[in-house]
Amino acid sequence: MLIVMNHNASQTDIDAITRIVAEMGFRAEPIPGSERTAIGVLGNHGYVDDGKILELPGVQRVIHVSKPYKLVSRDFHPEDTIVDVAGVSVGGKSRPVVVGGPCAVESEEQIVKTALFVKKCGADMLRGGAFKPRTGPHTFQGLREEGLRLLAIAGKASGLPIVTEVMSPDNVGLVAEYADLLQIGARNMQNFDLLREVGRIRKPVLLKRGMSATVEEFLAAAEYILAEGNQQVILCERGIRTFETATRNTLDLSIVPLIKELSHLPIMVDPSHATGKRSLVAPMAKAALVAGADGVLVEVHPEPEKALSDGPQSLTFPGFEKMMNEIGVLTAFLQSI
Ligand code: PEP
Ligand code: MN
Repeated sequence: MLIVMNHNASQTDIDAITRIVAEMGFRAEPIPGSERTAIGVLGNHGYVDDGKILELPGVQRVIHVSKPYKLVSRDFHPEDTIVDVAGVSVGGKSRPVVVGGPCAVESEEQIVKTALFVKKCGADMLRGGAFKPRTGPHTFQGLREEGLRLLAIAGKASGLPIVTEVMSPDNVGLVAEYADLLQIGARNMQNFDLLREVGRIRKPVLLKRGMSATVEEFLAAAEYILAEGNQQVILCERGIRTFETATRNTLDLSIVPLIKELSHLPIMVDPSHATGKRSLVAPMAKAALVAGADGVLVEVHPEPEKALSDGPQSLTFPGFEKMMNEIGVLTAFLQSI
């Protein structure tokens, strides 16, 4: 339930409601807005009788939210959330960001070379997996803690914030020491203990859509993180499973404007995992930005043919440079309309 206050409601009115909601056995969370304050009622598992609340001073109306998510919804928080990743703003009217880097950190030379190159081309953040969620156990699983150390070296050399995946609740503390933005991969979108754990830290989280997750399940997963107190969440569409096999996944681009209607959280798009094909990455990155994405995340490798994972979808250095030039022109145009 959401209690919308009159624009001239006083702090005393708000405090009185917070107290009464607590007496009813629920938690009240005031959400200040530019026009008026709303108060979210959390902890109820069914319909809450609003008769008593509607009579209180300062209350304009009550909205009953029947969706499995509240804190992430626009009803609760009409203004766009802007996530600050080590000084880089994502969301709202900020310029769309580009996150570039290899699927996995493979060596110091590979990650530092890539970091310096993507930075030179104008990327805003460096990605690279240290803990890799691989389909089979006999493939490269990532350099783990050593990979995090190499990311720190590359981050320092390039000045770029680091985006890297965390796969287990036990590793959240360790990954958070190195990452500026902690990624939850598609396969872990509904790892609820992991979601709760990243909800308890004070670093931003990039939550990727599960490969068979509906929009409602995706937002409900983000709700777990916000419910623990971490509001700094960026959503990421990375393609979903459909009957189509010509591409690795099917990029659901309509989710971008849809999420903007349903939620205040920023949304980025990963055209690399969505398509699985190098030649399709730049066109779909540009399409994502036209659809209103707050950024794109793409895989880049100095020698994709030698990559230990996801080589076929990784951009070459010249390919990344070309895409960045096109994105520069496109974002200038998009900001002018
Ligand atoms: C990745 O970003 O390297 C990755 C494994 O992505 P996803 O979880 O979307 O498959
Ligand atoms: Mn990958």
